[in-house]
Amino acid sequence: SEELIQKARKIIKVLQQHSYEAYIVGGAVRDHLLGREIADVDIATSALPEEVIQIFDKVFPTGIKHGTVLVRLEEQSFEVTTYRQESDYADFRHPNQVKFVTNIKEDLSRRDFTINAMAMNDGFSIYDPYKGQLDLENRLIRTVGNPNERFSEDPLRMMRAVRFSSQLGFTIEDITIDAMEKNAHLLSHIAIERIAVEWEKMIAGEFFRGSTNLIFYTDLYKYLPIIAEDNIIQEKIKHINAALPSFSAFIAYLVIYQPDITVDEWVKRWKLSNKIKKDANCLIDVMYTYRNGETSWAYYLLPMDLVDHFVLLSSLLFKTEITSVEIIERKDSFQIKSRTELAINGYSIKELFPERKPGKWIQELLTEIEKLVVAGKLKNDRIIISEWVANERNKA
Ligand code: ATP
Ligand code: MG
Repeated sequence: SEELIQKARKIIKVLQQHSYEAYIVGGAVRDHLLGREIADVDIATSALPEEVIQIFDKVFPTGIKHGTVLVRLEEQSFEVTTYRQESDYADFRHPNQVKFVTNIKEDLSRRDFTINAMAMNDGFSIYDPYKGQLDLENRLIRTVGNPNERFSEDPLRMMRAVRFSSQLGFTIEDITIDAMEKNAHLLSHIAIERIAVEWEKMIAGEFFRGSTNLIFYTDLYKYLPIIAEDNIIQEKIKHINAALPSFSAFIAYLVIYQPDITVDEWVKRWKLSNKIKKDANCLIDVMYTYRNGETSWAYYLLPMDLVDHFVLLSSLLFKTEITSVEIIERKDSFQIKSRTELAINGYSIKELFPERKPGKWIQELLTEIEKLVVAGKLKNDRIIISEWVANERNKA
């Protein structure tokens, strides 16, 4: 975290040497002041994108039409954005109109919340024209300027307010909540992909429990696909009492309670990635297997990167108290980690049954063998497995 800030200061100094202004802005300043982990550092500068491109060696014009250039320094990426007036999507009726401005104050004025509208220079001085530090102290989320105007300009900010309150445990100021109620319907203008980004951060927030109340209280839920339409899902969401590590865990949780809405439907309506789809399906598969009492098999099917997600889901669904470490140890104790490590494959099975036509049965038999090996009931040894297969054949 500190290291990131130090590297960002180097970029600021280089810009200053070229007689431009530059500041660290947005989330990094907020999280630095809160002593929270910093994910990425954004820099705002008076230099125009072409000027930034000329100054630095490793630059990538990733968001040039919004004034953003990605600068690489010592294995890290920094978004360097020219002071500008509108946000990328400000005023959903006229998106993508970016106007560069000449001073940092104006740049900060377009930002959503006071706690996100501070700038820090290379000497760690904070420029805070909208009293973000005071709101940090009071743990308050307030828009920069009139909340009604700011939400009608960009309705996504309402979801962002809830997302930040979930991550930080801050209260949303009363008149800001009133403005959310009033403008909730405008969320229907916002691309679902943008809402999904905020939603995923919201459900993973430490204070998620309170955020769901806000989503329902303000009527924002009425403009969220699926959630708007399904009572069972609404009730379940109201009762989730822990943060969920990912969108896939969220979907898996809800599909288990409301199987009428499938993973495919969630992914389609919310325009989610194939990775989320794959993970959600996998988690559901593992949860059902676990619920069937096939514990070892469930752990075997569970990929390493979903172990934490499973731990959380199973504690929510089955009140289990198993830890990630315990699951990883169990996974480690199995004779094989995946089917490819099985001492026998489809071809060798086929050879043991010269009279049978190839078909689905080969995969089924392989799965049966795999389960026995994972359960420790069959040694992962070519000869022993072949003997077992011959035995089964004779039984049949
Ligand atoms: P995170 O730690 O989750 O990245 P963040 O505050 O950096 O939080 P981003 O979505 O990365 O949030 O946005 C960076 C900054 O850009 C914000 O801090 C805010 O100043 C500004 N910003 C982002 N989205 C909007 C928006 N819709 N309207 C106004 N300002 C915005
Ligand atoms: Mg950020």
